[in-house]
Amino acid sequence: MPQESVFCIGIDIGGTKISLGVFDSNGTLYGQIQNIPVPFDERRVADPNRMINLITPFIEEAKEHYSPLIGIGLSICGNVNKQTGEAVLTPNLHWSHMPFGAMVREAFNLPVFAGTDVRAAALAERLWGVAKHTRFFAWCTVGTGYGGYFFLDGKLYDGFHGFAGPFGHIIWDEEGYPCGCGGRGCFETFVAGPAIARAGQAAVDAGQSPLMASLSHGSRVTTHIVIQAYYQNDPAAVAIIEKVARLIAINLSGLVNALDLEMIVLGGGVIQACPELIDRIDHHIRKYLMSDEARRDLRLERETFVNSALYGAAADVFARSGIICEILGA
Ligand SMILES: [Zn+2]
Repeated sequence: MPQESVFCIGIDIGGTKISLGVFDSNGTLYGQIQNIPVPFDERRVADPNRMINLITPFIEEAKEHYSPLIGIGLSICGNVNKQTGEAVLTPNLHWSHMPFGAMVREAFNLPVFAGTDVRAAALAERLWGVAKHTRFFAWCTVGTGYGGYFFLDGKLYDGFHGFAGPFGHIIWDEEGYPCGCGGRGCFETFVAGPAIARAGQAAVDAGQSPLMASLSHGSRVTTHIVIQAYYQNDPAAVAIIEKVARLIAINLSGLVNALDLEMIVLGGGVIQACPELIDRIDHHIRKYLMSDEARRDLRLERETFVNSALYGAAADVFARSGIICEILGA
């Protein structure tokens, strides 16, 4: 007997935009993904009440058109308490202990399943994406930040407190740059978007890149300007991207050597803007892998969806409601 469709709403709250979509339990998107800029107050703190006001029309419309609508999946760019939906630490939104899951539940009277965005992305890739048949893989975001999540021995790996995965905060140089996490010299501060922009600015300041200087029109060099210059074979930009690729290869090879992973799925804003980075990482990583088996079998893949975390927010609703049950952590 064919199963009746059930629906949910996925919401991904990133550092700059909120994305929403309606999905069924096969990962099919209904209608369009909606994108709304994150509303910030004058202190650059994301305003949770304005967020709820902004998403209300979309959710009310979904409630009217899709039935049964079994819940809302919430992916948030930071540490999230999966049980309570509290955003424990979200540097990009300047949230600390924000009970956002409970606020959404109260506003819309639907069950809410919240989690960190990298966990959601890993879940979507495993359920509906390129990692579908794998037992051991890592999701890796290269964007405003750098980090990921693990899927080990057939399960999402949440760790003791539910905070597993932020391998961008492995310290690389304890006297290095301050990091959004409150630490210093984390690996992320050497390879994520802001690091690429900073290296581009340094090249311009040193007179090494007339191209990036002209693309930035006297303003600060952005990550996208470096990537644009990379695609025009600007030597300084090529050197920056090549160095980032080599560092990421070193970091990911450590994960593969420690955990014996079969695949790493890469996504995030920098990868979307510069997918060639994956080939460059792939080129370098083989040198740093410990076993012949890993060198032979490891696959680096690009994310399957426009926004894997959004798909994963939806996947989490079905997984935690028991509709899809086999691959969650304990
Ligand atoms: Zn850090």
